[in-house]
Amino acid sequence: MKSGYVSLVGKPNVGKSTLLNRLLKRKLAIISAKPQTTRKRLLGILTEGNCQCYFLDTPGLLRPEYELQRLMVEQIKVAVRDADVVVYLVDPWFKSEDIQIGFIRSLGRSPVLCVINKIDLVPKSQLLPIIDAIKNLDVQEVIPISALHGEGVDELKKTIFRYLPEGPFLFPEEDLSDSPERFFAAELIREKVFEFFKKEIPYATCVVIEEFKEREKGKDYIRALIYVERKSQKGILIGKNGEALKKIGVEARKEIEDFLGRQVFLELWVKVREKWRKDKKFLKEIGY
Ligand code: GDP
Ligand code: MG
Repeated sequence: MKSGYVSLVGKPNVGKSTLLNRLLKRKLAIISAKPQTTRKRLLGILTEGNCQCYFLDTPGLLRPEYELQRLMVEQIKVAVRDADVVVYLVDPWFKSEDIQIGFIRSLGRSPVLCVINKIDLVPKSQLLPIIDAIKNLDVQEVIPISALHGEGVDELKKTIFRYLPEGPFLFPEEDLSDSPERFFAAELIREKVFEFFKKEIPYATCVVIEEFKEREKGKDYIRALIYVERKSQKGILIGKNGEALKKIGVEARKEIEDFLGRQVFLELWVKVREKWRKDKKFLKEIGY
């Protein structure tokens, strides 16, 4: 038997979360076209044949500007240090100075597989020089894929399995993640905020599940708090006559019900918490 941790790392927006979902054939990670959607480490479990992989989806590699981002980079460091295999994602438009293989190497000794994602967006003829450029780097393998459409993903999976160390399964075969349901509920609400709002609103928002009650009879009850940093943002999030918040609620509820496979009653509240992204105590309270 083989098992091990496989960390997905790379710049914001290269498609790490999309790849995780594709590998697991299940929407586990939230995705948006905006960079820095993923904030917390997410573990996705894939069991196939005699292999069990623990995929860690991480926030994007960036230069931290505030406490929340600093904590996000710390999570990447831990994810790389603990990895048995590192999957380093780039897109076809990468600049060599952006590639941080040296940084990854400095954190651990695990093999690094370089994945070129989004190959559906470049003509085949342009791919070869891109692959060649990556081959000069200190990586074990170079694998072109499209996480969105699935091209190359089976190849990648086989390659990962080859690099996995021998070991027992750490989780039951049917498990998909080690995160609790309330984590996914909060993430799906946050995804809608990323989808529906522009500019700074998504980045000023975090979601905390205040109550998650499973009921024998009737729907589960979920009460979530959406924190923003300013009163003006609260107004935008709620919208005229509460329309905007209602829309988040309706769309998030559908996604949560899909995810859980049962019906829920979702209640949303918006609260202002000034500068929460810089507030160490608060960040700790909400699980960073
Ligand atoms: P992350 O920040 O690295 O986790 O990136 P996401 O997985 O959130 O993806 C960022 C954006 O890139 C989303 O709009 C995805 O739909 C898109 N994307 C991801 N993989 C692919 C791909 O293989 N092809 C194309 N065309 N788009 C992709
Ligand atoms: Mg992501």
